[in-house]
Amino acid sequence: MPAYDRNNIFARILRGELPCRKVHEDEFALAFHDINPLAPVHVLVIPKGEYVSQADFCAEAPAGQVVGFWRAVAKVARDLGLEPEGYRLVANHGPNGGQLVFHFHVHLFGGRPMSHRMGNMPKTDERK
Ligand code: 5GP
Repeated sequence: MPAYDRNNIFARILRGELPCRKVHEDEFALAFHDINPLAPVHVLVIPKGEYVSQADFCAEAPAGQVVGFWRAVAKVARDLGLEPEGYRLVANHGPNGGQLVFHFHVHLFGGRPMSHRMGNMPKTDERK
């Protein structure tokens, strides 16, 4: 994995240098709509801190931040009304995982039934 780049897109969104369609913000996390949605609801949730990946986040972040982040993910799903019908969380890790932005983020997909082909998700919006 690359070292953390402070000029990655999500770092710049966190600093307010680039705009986003914000869904939620608290001391642990920022959630905003993906610029290229692959489902009726496609939100990204990112931690406030310099973490390249889920592995980096879990290894390096204080325990309270890890808990606060995942509670924020659950709150966003609940607040968007996704809880009763369900939703999918995805975190891409590294090249084989299809990670493009190296600031740890969770994709929250909802608003329609998801495919069961989880291990074979294509790179393009064939996922729609
Ligand atoms: P990854 O493949 O790294 O897990 O996903 C990165 C995601 O970030 C992609 O779904 C992509 O559409 C989204 N994305 C890339 N640049 C921007 C941006 O400037 N704003 C927003 N809101 N999403 C972005």
